[in-house]
Order: sequence, then C-alpha cells, then structure tokens
Amino acid sequence: MDEKSERGEINFDHLDIDTESIKRSLANRLTYTVGKDQFTATERDWFHTTAYTVRDRLIERWMETMRSYYEKDAKRIYYLSLEFLIGRTLTNSLLNLDFHEPCREALQEMGYELERIREIEDDAALGNGGLGRLAACFLDSMATLCLPGYGYGIRYEYGMFKQQIRNGWQVEHPENWLRYGNPWEYARPEVLFNVKFKGRVVQYKDEEGRNHHHWIDTEEVMAMAYDTPIPGYKNDSVNNMRLWSAKGSRDFDLNYFNQGDYIMAVEEKNISENLSRVLYPNDTTVMGRELRLQQEYFFVSASLQDILFRFQKHHDNITELPDKVAVQLNDTHPAIAVPEMMHLLVDHHQLEWKEAWSITTRTFSYTNHTLLPEALETWPVALFGRMLPRHLQIIQEINRRFLNDVMHTHPGDAGLLSRMSIFSEDGEQHIRMAHLAIVGSHHVNGVAALHTELMKETIFADFHSFYPEKIINITNGITPRRWLNQANPQLSQLITEMIGTKWTTHLDELKKLEPFAEDAEFRRRFHAVKQANKKRLVELIKQHLEIEVRTDSLFDVQIKRIHEYKRQLLNLLHVVTLYNRIRSGQGDEIVPRTIIMSGKAAPGYATAKLIIKLANDIADIINHDPAVGDLLRVVFVPNYDVSTALDIIPAAELSEQISTAGMEASGTGNMKLALNGALTIGTLDGANVEIRDEVGEENIFIFGHTTDSVKQLRQQGYNPQQPIEASKELQQVLEMIDSGFFSPDDPTRYKPLLETLRREDHYLVLDDYADYIACQQRVEALYRDSEAWDRSAILNVANMGHFSSDRSIRDYAEKIWGVKPVCRQSCD
Ligand SMILES: *Cc1c(COP(=O)(O)O)cnc(C)c1O
Repeated sequence: MDEKSERGEINFDHLDIDTESIKRSLANRLTYTVGKDQFTATERDWFHTTAYTVRDRLIERWMETMRSYYEKDAKRIYYLSLEFLIGRTLTNSLLNLDFHEPCREALQEMGYELERIREIEDDAALGNGGLGRLAACFLDSMATLCLPGYGYGIRYEYGMFKQQIRNGWQVEHPENWLRYGNPWEYARPEVLFNVKFKGRVVQYKDEEGRNHHHWIDTEEVMAMAYDTPIPGYKNDSVNNMRLWSAKGSRDFDLNYFNQGDYIMAVEEKNISENLSRVLYPNDTTVMGRELRLQQEYFFVSASLQDILFRFQKHHDNITELPDKVAVQLNDTHPAIAVPEMMHLLVDHHQLEWKEAWSITTRTFSYTNHTLLPEALETWPVALFGRMLPRHLQIIQEINRRFLNDVMHTHPGDAGLLSRMSIFSEDGEQHIRMAHLAIVGSHHVNGVAALHTELMKETIFADFHSFYPEKIINITNGITPRRWLNQANPQLSQLITEMIGTKWTTHLDELKKLEPFAEDAEFRRRFHAVKQANKKRLVELIKQHLEIEVRTDSLFDVQIKRIHEYKRQLLNLLHVVTLYNRIRSGQGDEIVPRTIIMSGKAAPGYATAKLIIKLANDIADIINHDPAVGDLLRVVFVPNYDVSTALDIIPAAELSEQISTAGMEASGTGNMKLALNGALTIGTLDGANVEIRDEVGEENIFIFGHTTDSVKQLRQQGYNPQQPIEASKELQQVLEMIDSGFFSPDDPTRYKPLLETLRREDHYLVLDDYADYIACQQRVEALYRDSEAWDRSAILNVANMGHFSSDRSIRDYAEKIWGVKPVCRQSCD
C-alpha cells in the first residue's frame, strides 16, 4: 500500500495522467465506448474518445468531493439560473486537471492534433449573454475555491440559436447541440421529480381548526436530472451542475392507457417534453409567454425538491435549513422559488406561516441584473393563477403581510403601498417578480458599484429605505482560467515567466507586472504576443470571411449582444466618419483600423436586426472601395458565442464599452478584453467605472455623458437636432445612411432608424457623438506611440485582479451565503 491508501485516502493513480496511460485510455475508449477503430474513426469520434478519457479522470474526484461535503456536513450553495453559458469544455477540463500537455502528446503520438480535435466540440450555449456567462464563471470559481456550490438549471435541447449572416441580414438557425451526444453529462434517470401545473386548490379545516390547502386535479410533468462535473483548477475538487430535462409524466400517461388510447398518451408525453425544448433567446426584454413561466416553475420546483431531499437525508429538523442551505436567485427568473418554498413548508411540512417565512427569507438571496424597465419580469395575474393557483394564493398572502408591515411603519401613505406592492394595479394586474424576490430574500445585490447605487436611488428606492441593509453590491467578475489562461496561452506564459503561476488562482498577483511596464524588453515581448494573436485572428478572418485585414492595423472590437442601449450605432457612426475623412483626402492622418463587431439580435428585435444589416452594408461598401485601400476594414463576425469570444479577445487592442450611461448593469466583456491587454474606450457605466478606478484614468479612454448628465439632459428636454446642428461631419454621416449610400438596392432601408434618431434618440447616440469622435482621436494619438500604448496595455492587465470571479465569489460567500471552503488539501 502506498502512503495515500494507508491514510485511507482515495488513490487516483490507476487513471494516471502520464502520456502512456492516456494513450492506453484513448485506445480503450475508442474501442469500447465509441465503437470504432483507428481506420474508421472520424475526427468527431476522436473528440468523443478524448472527452471520455478526460471525464474518466474527473469522476472519482467528483464523487470524492461530494463525499467530503457529506462528511463535513457543509453548508451548500445552490445557484439557480435559467442560463449557463458554458461554451466548450475539453480544453478547460484538461487545463484544470493539469494534463493538457500529456494528452496533447498522447494524441500526437497516435497521429492526431488536439488543436483540431477540440474545434469539433459544440458550444454548450445554454444562455443569452452576460447573465448566463456569469453563472458559468461562478461555477468555475466555486469549484476552484473548494466551495460546495451546485448549479441548477434546464437542459435545453436547443440552446442559443446559431446566427448566420445571409445577404447582410441575421438569420436564426436552431442549435441542436445534443445531436451527436454530450460526452460530459451523466443522465440520472432515477433522479426524477414530479412537477405540477394548473388544477385547483381546495381548502379545509382540521379538527384543531388549522387551515389546509390541497392543490388537486393538476397536470404533471417529470423532471429528470442530468449531471455535469465542474472541476476546480488543479485542486481535485469537482462540483456538480444539475440540469433538468422534462419527461412526460408516467401517472398522466396511465389515464390514457387505461382508456386504451395509446397514441394520445404518447402525444401528451411529447407536449410535456416541450418544456425543456428551447432556450428563450431574449436578452434584456421579457415576453410574458406561458411556456416560459412553465420553464421557470419546472426547474425551480425540481431543484427545491432535490435540495430538500438532500438536506433531509441527514437532517430531520427543517428549521435548520438556512444553516445548511443558501439559494442564490440569478435574476428574477427563479423567483417563484420563494412561494414554492412556502408551499413546501406550509402545505407539505405543516409549518406555521411565520416559521416557514423565517426559514424562506433566511435561505434566499437575489441578484438583480438590470434597471431597464422592459427587462423587469412581470406576469399577468390571470395567466399565473391558471398555471399555479396555489402559488398565487401564497403570493397574495406574502403581499398582504408585507404591505401590512409597510403600513405600520408608514401610516397613511397609500402611494407607497401601491409602489411597493408585489402586484401592479395599472390596467391588467401583474405580479412584479423583482418585488417578490426582494421581499423573499435576506440580501439583494447589484452587480457593479454604480448599478447598486442606482438600484438604491431609483427603481428600488422605497425598498432601500424600508430595508436599509438588504441591498448590497457585489461587482461581477470573470474566471481567469478561461479568459486568460485558456484564451491567451502566449500571454499567460509570458506572465508566468515574469511573476510565477499564482495569478491563475490569485489574480491580484498580476499587480507584480506593474514595474515591467517600464521595461522595454518586456514591452517588446508583450507587443509580440499581441501581434501573434492578431495574426491568428487575421488568418481566421481570411479563411472564414474572405476579408483581408492588416495585422498592423488597430484592432477595434465591439462584441456583445446587439442592443440600442449598447450603441453599436455610435460605433458605426464613427466608422462612417473615418471613411469620409479618408475619402476627403485626410487618409494620411488616420491610423489604419480594423473594426471588428460581433453579436446576436433577439429574433423579434427589429431595430437590432437592422443595425446588424447596417454594419454589414457599411462593411461591404468600405471594404471594397479602392479609395480606402487597406486603411479601414469592417468585419462582422457571425454567431458570437463563447468560442468566437475566445478567438477575438486575445487579439483585441481597443475595447468598445460605449453604452448610454446608467444602462449597462456591469458588463463582463469589458473585463475579459482589458485582462487580455485591450484599452477600453467607454462611458462611465457599469463596471467601466471600477475598471477606470483600478487602471487609472490615464490608461482608459472615457467619454460622453454620465448618469447625472443624462438625467439632467432628459429633464431639460433633449433635442437631437442640437448635436446634429453642431457637427458638419455628423450631418454628412446621417445624410449618407439616410439617402441609401450604403443600401443602393433599397435606399429607404434605414429611414426608420434615422427617423427615430433624429426625432427621439432615446439612447443619446447623437449627443455623445462629438465627444466619442474626439476620444477616438486621442486613441489614435496614443496608438501612434506604440511604446506608450503597450505601457498602458500592460498596466491594464496588471490592474485587473479585482475582476476575477474568485473575488466575486469570496464576496458572496462572506457577505451573503455564510459559507466556508471545504478543504481536503491546502486551500488558501
Ligand atoms: C462575456 C460574454 C457576454 C457579455 O458581454 P458584455 O460585453 O458584458 O455584454 C456575452 N456573450 C458572450 C458569449 C460572452 O462571452
């Protein structure tokens, strides 16, 4: 027996990670799992073979981690999120398990390239954008910090749609990511929970006069679990992400079978399975669709049943739940968890309301992600009551008691009561899910300092004065494992050479790079890495989009969902301004630039889709105009997802974060780009404010209105004609787009867009134009001084420590969840 076995520890050595052992595993997996030999195996077979070989090395660590949580009776964190935007898993797992190199060698000796095989993997795109990617970064950080964190969500059969650009327009295609099977997940057909909908509630009093509610005549759907291991970084911790898939209910089928209607039974089964069919592709707007409400309740109900089942295996006193369980609600999408918990505690566990309410509010906490009114979730009471009649009663009771409390502290203030009510009374009655989440949680957090302040001052001001301690800030972060170590191997290696490897788990260590900003040799090497990354992107653009781009041009990048508030239009106005300057003979004064844009528009968001078409129309004219030469290129990269982000970000030099001040809650794209050495041009919005505080105002390009000046401008009555009259260049740009210069095949195509700009310009694109253009000129000036640019870029990287999702998760653990790491070895 070796030392480890003598100490009673699990020994993983029989699945070694040396090249020879991996080769053996690959051969076995190819034969016995994939069922192919070296002659018949396709590249996809090799991807699956490699994935299984990696998964084999995760599984024992995973079970061991789960056992350690039981043994320590650790308090668990349940992160409830309708979205997890994971992306690919292979490289991430290889790096976290520390056998990327041996695996690469093993494959190479067998005649295959890991670099090619990993490209076969489909992205797990179970999210729209920032919110879903945040959830994915948080899972990585919880595992890396040895925290018992579980992700709970839905296993959508179709993830975020695939975006094709056809003739310049966005076309959506279904993303059938499970078509070839998902090697990372374990199906758990035995982990099955019943989820009820509809029906009615009957009430009766028992002998002791206690009221009981029975929810009966319901329709039922089964939730089946699929588990995906989430490895920490080189720490042998592996957590779990459990996603629910809808299965037709067995009981429900039985009724039909008894009536002899077999086909009907199978059809019904199909209908209930629609529940987990598809991710709603809406970012920052909500459409109150019945199936969406069903999705929300479906995954919340299954998750809470599972959580209580796990708790009760080892605890018999339900009142101890908040000591052992913390549930984080990622936005209001899972806010039905509040009434669901009350339903379980009061109707099933027979607790008194007060006690149940105390348990509930000590268990939940809620993260707000937006101040945009169109993104705040509400449900029509009529629809909600049909779908979840018992929950409607419970919410009404929660609201009655809550408003009663408000009334006692603020007697006679009817306005306050109606503002704070969980029910909106204007027109058709709606349930305000944010109010429900706030009332049902012990903490509510915003995702950047500015966003949290605005929450307290504006949309939740009444709640903030009623619960002065409840709303706190936890600034978002990104995992340095995926967004630096994996995204940018060359920069990672350079950093490690200078300051060691500790930065991968302690990102503050990057501060040690600061002195090297003054070191000419380091700057040269840093510059060379950026150039190499740019070269790689130039090849990809050439190969996939057939556009020739100068590697020595300024790579100016705006990659994010397409939305009016994010102001891709402002970027395009600048592009056309540069174009006009070149055409009027000022080309010599311009820094060669490549504008790279990427992003999806919600399928029903016509304006956003038109902006994509405009970007492509402008690109088409500029990229083919001989007068431009190679001075300017516009590249719209189709299908923005985690994998395209990983291709683009390491090559970026300028990061466009130009939302209207006060509208971007945090942003995380801004963090990824700065961490990879791009300088930010941005407004004082979301986490840009904190990025400026960290990197220093001399290393960031800030322009435009602030939240205060936006408010002022709107109060005094903003007139878009003013900025237009003030700028000849702006007039010319607008006139060109308006007159069909970029759309000769349909000269009126952009009339509606221009009409809204000229009349209303709600997002202040025109009023920020002049300052933006001037700021872009400061960008050019610095870019001409390559040494100074590189110095600033290095200082950006060096000061990004604060934006690690490890820091975010430590904040949550300490300020909200009250959890500690479960150490099996050293976790510092
Ligand atoms: C980080 C990320 C986002 C969020 O980008 P923002 O610029 O913060 O809006 C969206 N989509 C993907 C694929 C991402 O990786």
